[in-house]
Amino acid sequence: MESRAINFGAGPSALPASVLQEATKGLLNFKGTGMGIAEISHRSKEFTAYLQSVEQNIRKLLDIQPTHSILFTQGGGSAQFSAVVLNMLARHRLLHPQLTDEDRVLDYVVTGSWSKKAAEEARRMGGSTVNIAADSRKYSKDQKSFDNIPTADAYSFSNDPALIYYCANETVDGVEFSAEENSPASFPFQLLPRNALLPLVGDYSSSFMSRPIPHLSDHAIIYAGAQKNVGPAGLTILIVRNDCIVDVDAAARLGAIPVPICLSYKTLADHNSLYNTPPVLSIYITGLVLEYMLQLGGLDYYAGLTNRKSKKVYDVLKYGENKGIFKGKVKEGSGSQMNIVFDVLGEGLLAKFIAGAEERGMKGLKGHRSVGGIRVSIYNAVTEEETDLLISYMEQFAGQHKVDKE
Ligand code: PMP
Repeated sequence: MESRAINFGAGPSALPASVLQEATKGLLNFKGTGMGIAEISHRSKEFTAYLQSVEQNIRKLLDIQPTHSILFTQGGGSAQFSAVVLNMLARHRLLHPQLTDEDRVLDYVVTGSWSKKAAEEARRMGGSTVNIAADSRKYSKDQKSFDNIPTADAYSFSNDPALIYYCANETVDGVEFSAEENSPASFPFQLLPRNALLPLVGDYSSSFMSRPIPHLSDHAIIYAGAQKNVGPAGLTILIVRNDCIVDVDAAARLGAIPVPICLSYKTLADHNSLYNTPPVLSIYITGLVLEYMLQLGGLDYYAGLTNRKSKKVYDVLKYGENKGIFKGKVKEGSGSQMNIVFDVLGEGLLAKFIAGAEERGMKGLKGHRSVGGIRVSIYNAVTEEETDLLISYMEQFAGQHKVDKE
């Protein structure tokens, strides 16, 4: 194989090279059928068996109980911004048909541009009142940046909302809900009622399969696009608690917003995610990645790897901060483990840093167009050795350059 770049891109992002090699075989001949995976019917027995095995492996990796269904769909995380609202409003309508739109409340925790977009989409859909249960900008350095996860006293949840929405990892500014309960940057699970079927919705697009999901069984819906840790774009994976798979047409008869047939979780569930043609190739490669992950030791292995890689990057960032060369963009303790964002200070040094990285075969480090700087995404397929190469480069760069202090 020709030499491959070290890919720190934010998504689509690196996939394991051995998996991609394996995938080329399936592209030519899937499971001995003589037809490639992109050519075979999604209703063939070979593909339907494969789909079932992908589901089983997701169940195994995340320890998902039969209380929750796994559904496969398309449209990315963005389509779920609308789908979660419509399905959860339908559920709420069936539970409380008499409520007015004003009294039917959706709680959104806004900690970055993705949850902000999701809340805006909920407002656009109508049929409810959107309550911003917390907005982290209020607690930021300038009252307008997303640079932190607020502490528990910042949240005000409604009584019996149709959904409570959060994003587990906001990739633009890099803040992330931490896995540890009661840490400054953790989602305040302790504020939510216990013993209830919580309407809790988590966008895990950006950290899915990097470690176990805390409180998974308390969630109504967890969703993620495949294109960060587990596969190519095109596939969206949903984990939906069974009471949230409702008859959306019965809800519409009671006045709920009609749900487009392909966005209805019931359609997906009733047809084992094969109501229409699924993203066959993306499912195939995702399945290979999941098998590879299981072979390496599952999410315990990846959680350890993610911790080690991110700690090392944060350590060298700190070293560069002390030298006055780097400056983290996120408050300490709120930083993402998957996407680490920082500025390179000093005239022309950002471009120099990126050019030097490119010379060393490292790509995808340029920050998001809205925030600039550097963004290091260390998804599962970025190995510890590759991360170490970046770290020595960062260390060397910080040692070699000086920024004049005013
Ligand atoms: N949510 C999060 C946290 C994301 O990182 C992204 C994409 N990077 C999205 C949603 C949107 O996903 P998609 O591009 O698949 O619609």
